[in-house]
Order: sequence, then C-alpha cells, then structure tokens
Amino acid sequence: MWVQVFLLCISCFTLSTLSQTQDRASLHRSNDRAGHCQYTFTVASPEESSCSGNNMKPEVDGVLSRLTLLEALVSRLIAGEDGGAGTAVGATEEGLQEAFTQVTGERNQLQQDKEQLNRQIQGLQRRLEELSAEAESLRHKPCQQTHRPASDPAYDIGNGAYQEMKAEVTEVPASHLFPEGNFTGCGELQSVGDPVMHKKADSITGKYGVWLQDPEPLGDLYTNKTAWRINAVGKDVRQLFAYEDMDQFSQGFPMKVLVLPEPVESTGATMYRGSLYYQRRRSRTLIRYDLASEKLASRSDLPHAGFHGQYPYSWGGYTDIDLAVDEQGLWAIYSNNKAKGAIVISQLDPESLEVKRSWETNIRKNTVANAFMVCGRLYTVASYTAPNTTINYVFDTATGEGRAVAVPFKNKYRYNSMVDYNHAQRKLHAWDNFHMVTYDIRLGRANQGRS
Ligand code: CA
Repeated sequence: MWVQVFLLCISCFTLSTLSQTQDRASLHRSNDRAGHCQYTFTVASPEESSCSGNNMKPEVDGVLSRLTLLEALVSRLIAGEDGGAGTAVGATEEGLQEAFTQVTGERNQLQQDKEQLNRQIQGLQRRLEELSAEAESLRHKPCQQTHRPASDPAYDIGNGAYQEMKAEVTEVPASHLFPEGNFTGCGELQSVGDPVMHKKADSITGKYGVWLQDPEPLGDLYTNKTAWRINAVGKDVRQLFAYEDMDQFSQGFPMKVLVLPEPVESTGATMYRGSLYYQRRRSRTLIRYDLASEKLASRSDLPHAGFHGQYPYSWGGYTDIDLAVDEQGLWAIYSNNKAKGAIVISQLDPESLEVKRSWETNIRKNTVANAFMVCGRLYTVASYTAPNTTINYVFDTATGEGRAVAVPFKNKYRYNSMVDYNHAQRKLHAWDNFHMVTYDIRLGRANQGRS
C-alpha cells in the first residue's frame, strides 16, 4: 500500500513540475545557416531569467536531494512492511524455540532420572552381593548353639523365620552320622558331592537348559543310559536331543533329534517312564510327550499355577513351574495366588497329569535358586551364582513340615539354571553356565541328622 502512495506522490510531483515549466516555455522556428528549418524549444529556469554558466546545478541538486529523501522514505516504508511480517515470523520462531527448549529440558531431566535409577540399581545389587557374602561367611562360622528344644518357636514353620534360621543350623558331617557305611534306602539328604562336568555347550543357545536321564525307562528303544538334552535359550524351544550314552553325550553328536509338538518353557522339564514332562511355553499347561511314539500323550493345566515370570526362582528365566521325579513319582514345584509366592508342591498322576495332592510350604519361591524332590521331600538351593552355597530348606510331604538345613552345595560355574534328581543314579543333574554336570548325593535314614 505504501508503495502505491509513493508512486502517486511521484506522479503529482512530476505533473506539478511540468505545469510550472509549461508556463515559461516557448517554441521558435527559423532557418539555420544551411537553410534548413530549425525548431527551438526553450524552457525558462524556475529561478533564473537567463542562462549563466552552471546555473542548472542547484535545481538538479534540489531534485536529487528530493529523490534521495523519497528513496529514504520508500526504504523506510518497505522496511516497515517487511518488519511487520518479520515480527509475525519472529514470534512463531520464538514460540518454537521456547517449545524446543522445554522439550530439551524434559529430555535432560529424564536422562538424569534414568542415571539416578541406574545408580540405585547398582547400589542394590552391591548390597545384595554383600548380604550374600555375609550370609555365606555366617554359614561357615562355628555355631555356638547346637541344640534347640523341640518347642523352640523358631522351628515353627508358621512363623516365617525359617529363612533367617539357616545360618544357625549346625552342619554335621555325614560320615559322623552314619559310621555304618553307605545307606541305599530312602532318607534325608546328608551331603552333596562336588560337581562332575560331562559336557560344555559350545554356543550361546547352551547358556542354560535341561539335561536328563530317565530313571525308569520303558521299552527297548531308550535305556537309563540314554541322555537327553534341551537347549532352553530361545523363544521357540522344541528340539530334544537324544544321545545313546554318556560317551556320546560328552562327544556332542546326538543319535536323534526329536521335535516337540509344543514349545518348552524354561528349564523345569523332567523325564520319567518313557516320557518327557514339560511346561508348555507361556502357559500353565503341562505336557507329557511319549518318547517311543514321539507324540503328545497327555496335557493338563496345573490349576491356578503362576507362569511366565509370575513366580520364578531367584534366577528368573520363567522358572515358574519346576517338574521333578523321585522315588515316589512325579511332582510339580510352583506357586499360586493363594500361596502368595510361597512354594506349592503337587503330586501328579504320571499318566493324566492330574493333581493327586498338594502341600503349601512357607518358603518364598523367588528367594531360592532351584528345587528338587528326594524321597518325597522338597529341597531348595539357596543361590544359583555363589560358588559355595547351601541346600537351605527341606519340606517333608509325609509330615507336612519343613525346616531350615545347611547342606553345602557348589555352583562351580556360577550360573546354575537347572537342578533335578535322578533316583536311579542317586545323583543330581544340573546345568551350570554352559556346563552339564552331576553331583553325587548321600542320604541318611529318615529322621536321622535332625537336631
Ligand atoms: Ca528343579
């Protein structure tokens, strides 16, 4: 708009100047020296009546100065219009800058919060390691009090103090308790030998897993020497490797690979009477897979059992349902909402997988590393990483009672993901950080060894 006004002013100025000039202009016609007709158009100066040297200069200077002023005015007007638009753009940019600054600030704050949480986690991990080390050292100190009256309330399983009691339990060498020699009957766990390594997995899929031998094989196809292995790392675990015997197992070449009809969850599988028993992935469904026919023989949900990270062992790894076999049959070790994370033991029908009877213990499942059954008794392992830990708790399904114990147990490779009892061999099978190992165990007569 200002430009239009300026042009109008220029037109007025030009017309005005022209009209003034026309008042003093004259036209003459005459012949020049050569006889040609010559027209002369004369305009008088607005300030002078006759020409005298450079008398045009002031007028030209005046016009130039006016033009300069007008140019300056036009420049200011144009700058003003642009300045208005620039203000709007500037305001938008300012708003964006402010929003960006705010988002950046929030991001920085979140990063600071994350770093602080990481520091807290590291602090808690250090504290946990210190407490574990302290507990280990307490276990190895001589105990001043070796006897407690039967009425000692600390032995009351219902009071929840069993976890703290474990450091007070006296360790008595098995040889001292049973001088008569090896005991081959069913009894309480007295000692666990050093781990014997049979095979080391050579890839990341063997970080943890299950390896087993059937204590009571059926038919002629497989024997109690056949070794079975499942690498449990991965989302769709279905391969079951069969090895003719321990020599072949150690050499690493299976005689057969069976493909399971449903994927396996974690490391709680077990083997019994010609079948592999396992928990189906992401479910509380138990599956019996018949090894001879290579078919699913039965399946059943374990009622109310937690699964897929609800009630795992301290290791985690979706170890919610741990299946076990001993002299008395097939068991499930797990927890449910009613038990609020305490270990529940159920005896299962090996054919149908139906629950025959259940027991609720007072030991929280996530405080122990693993568990196994021997002669109808549940035993728990205190730590899956400590190289020198203990079997720290026993629960007897015959009496419905449990108590703390302290039977030394070694995690030689510091990441024990599976422990299972084989009653035919009287050994524990375990998978400790790529290493497939066995432990000899020693049992005593029932009720011996109790203080
Ligand atoms: Ca187990």
